[in-house]
Amino acid sequence: MDRRDFLAATAAASGALAFAGCNDSNRVAIDYSKHPKHTDKKTVHINRGKKTTIKLATSWPAHFPIMGEGVEEFASRLEAISGGSLKVKIYPKNVLVPALAVFDAASTGEIDAFHSGPYYWKGKNSAFALFSGMPFGFDAEEINSWMIYGDGLKLWRELYGRYNLYPLLGGNTNIQMGGWFRKEIKSLADMKGLKMRIPGLGGEVMAKLGVNPVLLPAGEIYTSLERGVIDATEWVGPALDIKMGFYKVAPYYYSGWHEPGSILELTFNKAFWKKLSDEQKQMIEVCSNEMNAKMTYRFHYENIHSLEKLKEYGVKLRKFPDEVTNAAKQALVDVVNELGSKNKEFALVYDSIAKHLALSKAYADISLKYFLNVR
Ligand code: CA
Repeated sequence: MDRRDFLAATAAASGALAFAGCNDSNRVAIDYSKHPKHTDKKTVHINRGKKTTIKLATSWPAHFPIMGEGVEEFASRLEAISGGSLKVKIYPKNVLVPALAVFDAASTGEIDAFHSGPYYWKGKNSAFALFSGMPFGFDAEEINSWMIYGDGLKLWRELYGRYNLYPLLGGNTNIQMGGWFRKEIKSLADMKGLKMRIPGLGGEVMAKLGVNPVLLPAGEIYTSLERGVIDATEWVGPALDIKMGFYKVAPYYYSGWHEPGSILELTFNKAFWKKLSDEQKQMIEVCSNEMNAKMTYRFHYENIHSLEKLKEYGVKLRKFPDEVTNAAKQALVDVVNELGSKNKEFALVYDSIAKHLALSKAYADISLKYFLNVR
């Protein structure tokens, strides 16, 4: 699928769903009861209690590559594993609630759960951005180790609990690329005044380098880049970037440091979660952990293949000059200090991350970093 097809399919899907949703949103949601069952009826003897349907909204269009498809696989696996006692009704972006209203909709109980990314909610609490990760922070493996065996999930659940929410791990984009630039960056001075589409803490770091970070809806990024309304954009990595077609209008593709392993979330309305049986909770956790792992691996798989295609298209691969990277590291210190002085919860979460990261870096220096350099 090329960019135009991808965007058209995305727009058509969300448009049709949104339109139909006005009349009967149930009719347009994906019906997983029609999917083939993985279990043989004869083998299902366990009494799994009452049947429960989870109303789950996502921030992605229907069948969105990797992220949306991962949620669909989660739904299908959960139904199969539970012998049909747990069903998931997926409402893609804008079908039942707008993409960035899923947090509030789950908080109030309008929906039971959502799949999205915690950095979208930093306006509610700047600490939430840290649960996605941070520039120069954890890679996918490191953030999962902090989440599961360190204090990550504990802190996240404590802070989301105030919004009547209960988060589970829902995937990881794996390391993201630094983005697409119309002109080559040869010095820190080249960054000043650039208009770049980049959200989150990465955008705040870029702003300290003199970049003008802008937010644009996905459907407007390509045209803005083509017309020079923006000079650069980050998106995700080769697998998703290639579908957006940025290589056609911005030939310089930079390695990145701003989103080294962004977490995606599967978050439940806490009251809904509490009402589930222990057996149901464990089945959901098993499937969510599987989604968390498989989405990470799938990103890697698709990225390495898409990168080869991008090379065939003549993309110019670049790394930021040391001058830029060093300034960005200092900018991150400033951003963290500013946010930490305004919000003690940001400081608390950052402190936990900083301790885990220091140990992880010390170990990586004598293990992974060494190995990747000699491989
Ligand atoms: Ca990104």
